[in-house]
Amino acid sequence: TTNDVKGFFMRNAFVILTVVAVIVGTILGFGLRPYKMSYREVKYFSFPGELLMRMLQMLVLPLLVSSLITGMAALDSRASGKMGVRAVVYYTTTTIIAVFIGIVMVLIIHPGKGSRDEFTKHEKIEQVSPADAFLDLIRNMFPPNLVQACTQQFKTKNAKRVVTVKILVNDSLNNGSQEVKQEEVIPVLGTVNGVNALGLVVFSMSFGLIIGGMKEQGKPLRDFFDCLNEAIMRLVAIIMWYAPLGILFLIAGKIVEMDDISEMGGQLGMYTVTVVIGLSIHAFIVLPLLYFLVTRKNPFVFIAGLLQALVTALGTSSSSATLPITFKCLEENNHVDKRVTRFVLPVGATINMDGTALYEALAAIFIAQVNNMEMNFGEILTISITATAASIGAAGIPQAGLVTMVIVLTSVGLPTDDISLIIAVDWFLDRLRTTTNVLGDSIGAGIVEHLSRHELRSADAEIGNSVVEE
Ligand code: ASP
Repeated sequence: TTNDVKGFFMRNAFVILTVVAVIVGTILGFGLRPYKMSYREVKYFSFPGELLMRMLQMLVLPLLVSSLITGMAALDSRASGKMGVRAVVYYTTTTIIAVFIGIVMVLIIHPGKGSRDEFTKHEKIEQVSPADAFLDLIRNMFPPNLVQACTQQFKTKNAKRVVTVKILVNDSLNNGSQEVKQEEVIPVLGTVNGVNALGLVVFSMSFGLIIGGMKEQGKPLRDFFDCLNEAIMRLVAIIMWYAPLGILFLIAGKIVEMDDISEMGGQLGMYTVTVVIGLSIHAFIVLPLLYFLVTRKNPFVFIAGLLQALVTALGTSSSSATLPITFKCLEENNHVDKRVTRFVLPVGATINMDGTALYEALAAIFIAQVNNMEMNFGEILTISITATAASIGAAGIPQAGLVTMVIVLTSVGLPTDDISLIIAVDWFLDRLRTTTNVLGDSIGAGIVEHLSRHELRSADAEIGNSVVEE
């Protein structure tokens, strides 16, 4: 009956709209490609997508801070300590597995053929010393000025790259766009769009823990952040309805604007295939298997609940921007306990990046292959360690992983300029590794919840008791 159809649509509205958005966006994108739009036209065309990106980014800062503070304050320090250890064990294990898959795939498929004449040279990448990068990572954990940490890029040494960007000239005399060489500062280590996420994570966790332990005295602050968090989540609920439209235009705009696929022949094509296979193994086999082994529940039902978050990651290339949607999917579709998501997700989005780790290790060895340099076991080990560190340090923003790769390359003496060899395909691979990153964080939340069910239950019981006492 029509009522059944209506009911089905209402229950699955987001899933249906998201799938429609991806399909229509792809068709529209390829349909418009032959018209060779100018840069300005593409900008106008993708405007609804740009708006989605901005709306999501707008919420990241208050969401990150309020969810971590309430998440930490809701649990006693023993319970959150245990949960924290489980999360860290999960992050470490899955990141190591991801790096391992990346290395095995690139060694088996061997996409690099020791010749570099098929590559187009792109921009120059600046040198970063691994030692400076590590110190920056730790520095960022302790922002000297909290207000500045929210509004300004935390200065990272050398963390910039020079790119040629086409800018839109707002000059009526000048019709169209102009190519201008501009130095773009890419916030690399632990910073998100000018927000020092890592520093805020460290501060919010400590702060939440403290006000959680302050009993009666801490109540006003706990209520305040609880309320803030709830209000932000209600804003997210509204943005969710806009998201499919934004995603449609993000995808269509990117397809219209992308370079010709001709560059994908040869080694670069093989490299892309290798990355896709590696990420797929991690996302479709390893993570689901891990989820099944720990929880004994169907991982694909869990993943289906995440669909909108995964597609948003694909559309935005940013795990931070996706964070609000990830929260909604996990809490509402998969019914993961809020005390877990609030605590595990913001940290995960900031430091746990399986896709990026896999990618960085794989890419470094590919660059070695292109240069005809065989990596010995020690060097591969070094690559694994620095790739892990670089994935922790990479911010959840588009193409951050490409920049932190400098650390990996430098550590084994590979030419950092050769990052430019893979830039042509990075916009695409970035989307895939971001999706893998978001999936890794979400499955982590599911696993940590399962492992922490006893603590959560006894915390419930305590609240129940105190209510009875009152
Ligand atoms: N764009 C990725 C993310 O936001 C990071 C990366 O460049 O690997 O998760």
